Amino acid sequence: MDIRFYNTLTNTVESFAPVDSECVRMYGCGPTVYDFAHIGNFRSFLFADLIRRTLEFFGHNVHQVMNITDVGHMTDDAVADGAGEDKMEAAAKRIREDKKSGKVPEGAVENPDDPYQIAQFYTDAFLEDARQLGMKVAFEYDDNILHATQNIEVMQEMISQLIDRNHAYVGPDGVVYYSVESFSDYGKLSGNTLDQLQTGAGGRIRDSDQAGKRHPADFMLWKADSSHIMKWDSPWGTGYPGWHIECSCMARKRLGRDIIDIHTGGEDLIFPHHECEIAQSRGATGADSFAQFWMHARFLMVEGEKMSKSTGNFWTVRDVLEGRATGNEVHPAVLRLELIKSHYRSNMNFTKKGLQDSAGVVKRLQELRSRLESQTSESANIDASHPILQAFGQCLADDVNVAGALGAVLPWASGDHPDAAESLGILDRINSVLAVAPLGDTGTEQADSDDQPDIISLCAMMDEARAAKDWPKSDEIRAQLEQAGYDVKTTPAGTIAEKKLA
Ligand code: AMP
Ligand code: ZN
Repeated sequence: MDIRFYNTLTNTVESFAPVDSECVRMYGCGPTVYDFAHIGNFRSFLFADLIRRTLEFFGHNVHQVMNITDVGHMTDDAVADGAGEDKMEAAAKRIREDKKSGKVPEGAVENPDDPYQIAQFYTDAFLEDARQLGMKVAFEYDDNILHATQNIEVMQEMISQLIDRNHAYVGPDGVVYYSVESFSDYGKLSGNTLDQLQTGAGGRIRDSDQAGKRHPADFMLWKADSSHIMKWDSPWGTGYPGWHIECSCMARKRLGRDIIDIHTGGEDLIFPHHECEIAQSRGATGADSFAQFWMHARFLMVEGEKMSKSTGNFWTVRDVLEGRATGNEVHPAVLRLELIKSHYRSNMNFTKKGLQDSAGVVKRLQELRSRLESQTSESANIDASHPILQAFGQCLADDVNVAGALGAVLPWASGDHPDAAESLGILDRINSVLAVAPLGDTGTEQADSDDQPDIISLCAMMDEARAAKDWPKSDEIRAQLEQAGYDVKTTPAGTIAEKKLA
C-alpha cells in the first residue's frame, strides 16, 4: 500500500518510505513536565501514536522515541535565548499553592523547592494519563522516553561539534549561540527567511532580544547562569542548555541515526523549535537531512474557542476523565477516540457532542467484541487484502484519514457476523490502530468496561429518548444512572450525570 503523509517541510502529501526498510525511526516532542498535560497536548501525542500504529498496521517495525523536557523550556519560548523564566522554576513557585488547593496531593513533591521532584511528579502523572489513553510509547518509558536532564553530556558534545564546525559561537554576553546565518537552509521548514526574521517577522523576534547575538534569530544553545534552578558544569560556564538542543541530541542518541524518518509535534513547534532542531542536527552531522518527514498536528479548541486558563475552558486529561470538564465521567477509550478522530491537519473542536458521538462509536465496537467473544475464543489471522481491512487501510494510508477509516468499518461492525473468528481477527487488526475496544491494545490490564455503565452513552441515549418524547425510556435510563450512583440533571445543553458524593 502506498502510504502518503503530509510533510510540513515540502508542504505536500508525499509517499512515505523509510530510510532503512527494516525500521521506521520516529521522534516526537514530549511534554514539558511543569504541570499536568492538557487535552491539547494529548491531541498531539496521540497523533504521533496514531502515525506509529498506522505504520505498524502496514507491517512496519517502528522505533518511536519521545522526550521529557525537564529543563531549559523558558516561559518566553519564541525567542529561545534564555529570556523569561524556566518553566520548572515557574512550577516551583506554584507548587505550594497547588498542594494547598489539592491540585497536587499533599504527600507528593515532598520538597517543593526541588525541581527534580516536581519533574518526576509530573512525569509520573503524564505517564499515567498516556497509558490510560493507550499511547504505546508510554509503555516503553525505560527505553524510549528520555529526560533532558539525563542527557546533558550529549548536548554538550553536540554544542562543541557545532562550535568546531562554525555553526555556533560564544557571544560577548557569554551565551553560546547558534549562528543562523551559518546554515543556509534556516527557515525552510517554517517559511521564515532570515530577512524576515531580521526585521522581527510577526513580532516573534524583538530588538531587545539581540544582545550579544550576530543575528537576531540566533538562538541559545547554552547559557552560563549559576543561579539557574538546574545547572551543570560546562566548558562555557556552569549553566543550562537551551530548549531546542535536547531534541536534536536525544533523537540521534536513541534512534542511532543522523537521518530519521518522521518527526512529530504540535503546530506551534514548527517555529522556532523544529526549525532550530534542523539547524542543529544538520549543522552537527553535516547530513543533508535530519527528519525526512515533519508532521504537525493542528491545535485543539474547546467548543470553538481557544483553550485558555483565563476563559475557564482549559482541561487536563484528568478533568475530562473525572467529569470536571463536561459534568460526566468519560471513559478513557472515549477520550482517546475523540482526540484522534478528526483529521490532524484541521483544528480539532472538543465538544460535549463530539464526546457523545465517540462514546457511541466505542460502544458499537465494544459490543461487537463482546458478541464475537461470546461465540468464539479464536481470532483468525486475517490478510490485509480482506475488503474491510483494505477499505480501512486505504483511508489510513491517505494521510491518516481516521474519519474515513471509521466510516469504512462501522457499517460492518453493526452487520451480521456469521464467521465469528474471522470477524474477531478483523476487529483485532482494526483495534491495533484505534485501540479503543478494548482500550490500549498494549497487553496491559484495563478496567473492565462491562462492569461500569458507559455514562456518556447513557446520557446521549436519554437525550435521544427525550427528543422523541419517549418518557418511559427516558425514566428507565435515569433510573439506571441513579442506580450507578449519579445525580441526573436535564439542561438545555443536554443530560448531565454527576457522581453523587459518598
Ligand atoms: P509542551 O508541554 O508545552 O511542551 O507541549 C507538548 C506538546 O503539546 C507540543 O507538541 C505542543 O505543540 C502540543 N500542544 C500544546 N497545546 C496544544 C493544543 N491546544 N492543541 C494541540 N497540541 C498542543
Ligand atoms: Zn522537541
